[in-house]
This record gives sequence, structure tokens and C-alpha cells, in this order.
Amino acid sequence: MRFATRFAPSPTGYLHRGHAFSALTAFDAARAAGGRFVLRIEDIDATRARPEYEAAILDDLAWLGLAWETPVRRQSEHLADYHAAVDRLRERGLAYRCFRTRKELDIGRAPHEPAVPFTGAPLPAAEEAARLQRGEPFAWRLSLDAARTALGGFEGLAFVEEGAGPGGETGRIAARPELAGDIVLARKDVGVAYHLAVVLDDALQGITHVIRGQDLFEAAHIQRLLQALLGLPTPTYRHHRLLTGPDGRRYAKRDRAQTLRELRAAGVTPEQLRAEMGL
Ligand code: GLU
Repeated sequence: MRFATRFAPSPTGYLHRGHAFSALTAFDAARAAGGRFVLRIEDIDATRARPEYEAAILDDLAWLGLAWETPVRRQSEHLADYHAAVDRLRERGLAYRCFRTRKELDIGRAPHEPAVPFTGAPLPAAEEAARLQRGEPFAWRLSLDAARTALGGFEGLAFVEEGAGPGGETGRIAARPELAGDIVLARKDVGVAYHLAVVLDDALQGITHVIRGQDLFEAAHIQRLLQALLGLPTPTYRHHRLLTGPDGRRYAKRDRAQTLRELRAAGVTPEQLRAEMGL
């Protein structure tokens, strides 16, 4: 299959240097391999995605010198396909309704502590029916127990890492989906979860190489499980180092990292950015 990779930003803010590094790394890899470069807009979270951010992303990427296949896939236009996949998992008994609120799940957790992976089980039928009757919101969660049974264990699940995880993990890696617990597949406010949409789209778009930052390395473990359950091919992964700023911390939207728009307005050129990033 012809080499194909992608850049898959969420339009929830303006791009910063970290995004530019990821996009350029993927783009350069596609060019070096004589392959395809795909841009995908991951806008399933309607509570956070905004059209003006999407427009700015396209503009910033073009300014960086990137070119991508058209039409660009916008995840919000394919929600029915993602829901159909959730239904397939449900029909096979691989998903269950979880009525716990985020607040309930966070009880006893100090703000600096990471969320504990949740594992649960379907409620007794009568209780579930009563809660549904009362209109209580719920999320569909993937049952690790049911998935383990369906696959006869997770031992055979592996993916190839050509870059490195945050702990230097590289080569053939045994997937450990249990680290994430029973992940949410769909929720009332965000109709479909990131992991499910990503594995479906990567397969649909013929992505052979997932090139993205190390901050998403853990996601590969979960995505590998979803690929196995949905009968999708597993791409090769190349997680790259995260760019850090002068303060030694990685660039992040929430820290109001300087955006590409600001850099551009200040007269910085794409060539200067590339040189600064060692690309
Ligand atoms: N949409 C994700 C993000 O902006 C990236 C998903 C991926 O590369 O798999 O963080």
C-alpha cells in the first residue's frame, strides 16, 4: 500500500509551534516516501470546535508550505458512521451504558492526581431501565472484560513504533489497553469519542503511518484494541519528540503558547521556523 500519513488537528484553538512541528514532520515524511499527505479536521467535540479556528488552521498550514489532498475530511460530517460502529460494538456485547458522572468518578481524587482508569459493568436491567426512564444521561463504555473474551486475551495485540514513546519505547510493542480502563465510546454531549473516530478514519483514509506527538503514545494502546475489535488494519506509528519552549516546557494551547498567526504577524518566516525546529 502506498505510504500515507496525516495531520489531524482539532479546531479548538489556533495552531502553535508544536502543531507546526507535527504537521511538517508528517508532511516531510510523506514527501520523502513519495506518499500521500492527508489533513483531517477532528471536530467531533461540538462544544469546543469552532469554524473560525478551522479556517485559521487551513490558512496557517498553507503559509507553512503544506499541501494536502482534497476534499478534507471533517469528522463532524460523518457522525452517523461513527455511531454505526458503536452500534456494532454494542450488538456484540462489547459496550455498556455507564451513568456515572464525571464528578462521581472524581470523588476522592486530588486535582493534581491523574484520573483513575475506570472499569465497570452493565447495571442490572431493572436499574438501567429505571434510570433511562428518568432520562438520566449516560455514556457508552467499551468493556475491557468483554473485549478480552472476544479476542481470547490481549497477548496477540501489538503495534510497530518507528519513533519512540515518552519512555523510549520503540520497535514492536505489546499493546496494553487495560492501562486506560473502559474507555468512553460515545456520550451525550460529545456524540463519539476521539479514539473511535480516529481508528475508523485512519482505516478509511488508507493511513499507513500515524505520525504525531509523543503525548498521544498511550492512545496507540487503546486504538490498537479498537482496530482489532473492528477488523481494521493497524498502521505503523511514529511518535515524535515534543517541542519545548525556552522554559523547557512543551507548547500547549492552554498555556497560550504563541500562535503561528502571531509569529507570522511578527515577521517570522516558515523557513525560520523550520530551521529553529531542526527540520
Ligand atoms: N486530534 C488530535 C489532536 O489534535 C490528534 C489525533 C491524532 O493524531 O491521532 O490532539
